[in-house]
Amino acid sequence: MSGQALLRLQSIVKKFGDFTALDNIDLEINEGEFFTIVGPSGSGKSTLIRLLVGMDDVTSGQILLNGDRIDQTPANLRPTCMVFQSLALFPHMSVGQNIEFPLKLRKEDPSARRTRALELLDLLRLPRDYYDKRISQCSGGERQRVALARALAFDPEILFFDEPLSALDYRLRKTLEKELKDLHARTGKTFVYITHSLEEAMVMSDRIAIMKDGRFEQIAVADEIYGRPVSRFVAEFMGEVN
Ligand code: ADP
Ligand code: MG
Repeated sequence: MSGQALLRLQSIVKKFGDFTALDNIDLEINEGEFFTIVGPSGSGKSTLIRLLVGMDDVTSGQILLNGDRIDQTPANLRPTCMVFQSLALFPHMSVGQNIEFPLKLRKEDPSARRTRALELLDLLRLPRDYYDKRISQCSGGERQRVALARALAFDPEILFFDEPLSALDYRLRKTLEKELKDLHARTGKTFVYITHSLEEAMVMSDRIAIMKDGRFEQIAVADEIYGRPVSRFVAEFMGEVN
C-alpha cells in the first residue's frame, strides 16, 4: 500500500525491572530506506533492535510490519533478519554451508539452496569457488560479506545491523561502509543500521535517528541534523565525533 510505512513502532516501552530502557518510542521507517539509529553507549539502540527482530519482548506498545502486528510473532517467523558481526559465522563450516544455513532451517532442498548461495556469492562479489572454502580461510572483509550473504539468503523484508563494523580496523570499515551502501542500492531492501559513529551514519543513511536515554532526540536527514540540531545534546554529540 503506498503512503504506508513499512515498519511502524507505536508507543514502545521496554523496562528491565524498574529501569526504563525505551521510553515510549514512536517511529516509522519506509520501504527501501537506509535508516540509521545513532547514539551513545547505553542509550537503548541494541534493546530497540532486539525487540524489532524478536529476540526480546516489548513491555508495551506495538510493532507493525506492512500494517500487521508482529510484536507477538516469534523471531524465526518474522520476515526480518539481524546481521551479526562476522564473528557469528560457523567457523567449522564452509562458506556455502554458512550461507545456506537459514535455507536448511526452512527445509529447502539442497540444489535450490546451492543455486541461491551461488547467486548470493555473485551479489556480494565473492568468487563462486568460495562456496567450498572454509570460513577460517577467509579474510575479515570476506567474512563480513559471507555474513551479509547469509542474512540475505531467505530474502528478508528488513535487514537489521547492530554495529556490524565496530570490531574492524579503520580501512576495512571504510571499505565495508561503501560496500554496504552499494548493496543497499543494488538490493533495494530496507536497512536499519545501528552505530555509535555519527560519521558512519552521515555517509550511509537516508535518515538518521539520534537516540538518548531511550528516546529519540531528533529524526531527520543528515543535512538537517548537521545544519539544524534540535538540542544542545545533538549539537554536542556531533561535535564529539567530528
Ligand atoms: P546501546 O546499544 O545503545 O549501547 P543498550 O540497548 O544495550 O544500549 O542498553 C540500554 C540500557 O538498557 C543500558 O543502561 C543497559 O544497561 C540496559 N539493559 C540492556 N539490556 C538489559 C538487560 N537484559 N537487563 C537489564 N538492563 C539492560
Ligand atoms: Mg549496543
